Amino acid sequence: MARRRLVYEGKAKILYEGPEPGTLIQYFKDDATAFNAKKKAVIDGKGVLNNRISEHIMTALTGIGVPNHFIRRLNMREQLIRACEIIPLEIIVRNIAAGSLSKRLGIEEGTPLPRPIIEFCYKDDKLGDPLVTEEHIIAFNWASQQDIDDIIVLALRVNDFLSGLFTGVGIKLVDFKIECGRVDEGDFQRIIVADEISPDSCRLWDMKTGQKLDKDVFRRDLGNLADAYSEVARRLGILPESGNKKAGPKLVR
Ligand code: UDP
Repeated sequence: MARRRLVYEGKAKILYEGPEPGTLIQYFKDDATAFNAKKKAVIDGKGVLNNRISEHIMTALTGIGVPNHFIRRLNMREQLIRACEIIPLEIIVRNIAAGSLSKRLGIEEGTPLPRPIIEFCYKDDKLGDPLVTEEHIIAFNWASQQDIDDIIVLALRVNDFLSGLFTGVGIKLVDFKIECGRVDEGDFQRIIVADEISPDSCRLWDMKTGQKLDKDVFRRDLGNLADAYSEVARRLGILPESGNKKAGPKLVR
């Protein structure tokens, strides 16, 4: 097979040139990083799970008219996506206080917020993805006011959808991060959801027990990360009920 051209390699994913102009192949690695890559590990099966979970969520978002980059899954670790011009922001939506918000403002983790709170961080690993305001975003030309308005509408729609999806399977959506990009459509540009939506980029707590089913399991050494992600996939109906990866093929008599 001809070697594909590598377009970009990030911490958890690799982008290759796609088969047609305007497409890319997104490959999900097993690498896990936290604290700006100061903590690293390889978690067997994480890439496969995130590829499936992100496919499931992006497909459902397409179904309710939330534009996103997902075209189709190609195999266990790869999906075909629409190329877009990534806006250099992490868009964080929070429903319950946790993580950096709790630290920054001294609000106890688990406190429900009076309304969803949207935060923007400037995507720059060297700077540690600092929190920025709309003023910075416009002044430094990372996005226009119209882009920001569109991004907020998308982020809130994703939040409503994901909150319902996870509530239905006994999981609280505490917070999540999305990334957005621009695509050309005729004479206009449109903002779409890009990157991935998976337990790497969401905080997910079991409703009954409070058990963490997301990357905090890795960040805080709380157990086996692949088991937590498998549980999310199983509840979403992506994995067979047993979730037993070791089960061999069934003997057909
Ligand atoms: N998040 C992410 N990538 C980042 C930073 C945050 O996916 O580079 C997600 C994180 O998993 C959580 C939400 O965004 O679901 C809010 O993260 P927070 O700001 O609390 O950061 P952290 O506690 O991870 O430092």
